[in-house]
Amino acid sequence: MQSNTSDVIVIGGGAMGTATAFELVKRGRSVRLFEQFSIGHDLGSSHGYSRIIRRAYYEHPDYVPFVDRAYELWRELEKTVAESLLAVTGIIEIGAPESPLLKGSLLSCQLHAIAHESLDAAQIRARFPQFQVPDFMRGVWQKDAGILAVERCILAFRLAAKNAGAMLHEEEEVLSIEPQKSGVAIATRRGRYTAPNVIVCAGSWAGRMLADLNLPLCVTRQPLGFFTPKKRELFELGTFPLFLMELDGRSFYGFPFFGVDYMKVASHTHGKIVTPDTVDRSFSAADESELRDFLDAHIPEAGGRLSFGKICLYTNTPDSDFILDAHPKHPNILIAAGFSGHGFKFASVVGETMAELCVAGKTRHKIDRFALGRFG
Ligand SMILES: Cc1cc2nc3c(=O)[nH]c(=O)nc-3n(C[C@H](O)[C@H](O)[C@H](O)COP(=O)(O)OP(=O)(O)OC[C@H]3O[C@@H](n4cnc5c(N)ncnc54)[C@H](O)[C@@H]3O)c2cc1C
Repeated sequence: MQSNTSDVIVIGGGAMGTATAFELVKRGRSVRLFEQFSIGHDLGSSHGYSRIIRRAYYEHPDYVPFVDRAYELWRELEKTVAESLLAVTGIIEIGAPESPLLKGSLLSCQLHAIAHESLDAAQIRARFPQFQVPDFMRGVWQKDAGILAVERCILAFRLAAKNAGAMLHEEEEVLSIEPQKSGVAIATRRGRYTAPNVIVCAGSWAGRMLADLNLPLCVTRQPLGFFTPKKRELFELGTFPLFLMELDGRSFYGFPFFGVDYMKVASHTHGKIVTPDTVDRSFSAADESELRDFLDAHIPEAGGRLSFGKICLYTNTPDSDFILDAHPKHPNILIAAGFSGHGFKFASVVGETMAELCVAGKTRHKIDRFALGRFG
């Protein structure tokens, strides 16, 4: 009879789960990775061709060493799968001088000696004539930022994990997690599996998967628009920069052509509160007009025909910091959740962190700000 045991069960084959599975098999652990859909799907938080990676972390300077290690691990993954996954392009962050975006970004630059340039509005317009920027605004240019090919990264982790011996259970939803006297059992429609350790990386489904903890997670609907620019040559990779722009308490971000020859733009401000099972995944006329209004005001040559739109999900904590911790009652259940719309760039280092916590009970990374205990 086939044994249903392994050293570790990872629940969720998205960004964090595939990275964690790979880091565990690298450490010689036998791993079963469960994904309710097929890995690389577009129903969670990890689709839409591209994700930003940046060092000048405006959210908090504590993230800088974490992202620096993430860069190293992305480069290692590229070597493992012999594929290019990260394109360094630089990013221009634009906002009022007192905005959290600019103040936070400059603070991280100062504390971690990150190479950057501060630009005034005229300098931004001169360097990047695609932007219409009001005179009071300022910019921070950070050359090390870049773009991760989001779906290809996940498929790379999947391949690397599988090649190193991970057992993949795709299209197999985990229905329950049952702590045992020693170890943990999980149930799916196909069977029951046991392991000494379980790691929950369930993205927008984490709240439901860990209902006993009543985690303060709020899932929001985030539309992405892909536009055919009026002047295509202005938005090619290498011509148009990655950008983040904060205006009147709202923020927008966008990409040059990457993976597709459309300009991708989205709002980083939290959208409507939803659940992953009932969210409306159709891209509406209202979604288009919110993005088009922003483009018309600030990047007018980008706002040509809408080619298509997609809906993605943020899983937000109250403070937008992640949760990387053990279950308070069952220390052999580890949790990686609440990535609050800025987690993808860290997937490689989150995988390393969770694998270290699982194998050694501790990690080299400073993860105090991600403790569950902060919610009381
Ligand atoms: C529009 C958008 C733009 C973003 N931009 C950026 C960016 O530029 N830079 C950045 O760093 N981050 C960005 N993020 C955030 C980042 O993409 C997410 O933080 C990250 O992808 C979350 O990964 P995850 O593994 O937690 O979730 P997911 O990748 O969604 O994975 C969770 C997986 O768990 C599976 N699952 C859930 N429950 C079960 C179950 N019971 N059984 C089996 N499988 C289950 C799901 O099917 C899913 O595949 C963005 C997010 C969105 C939505």
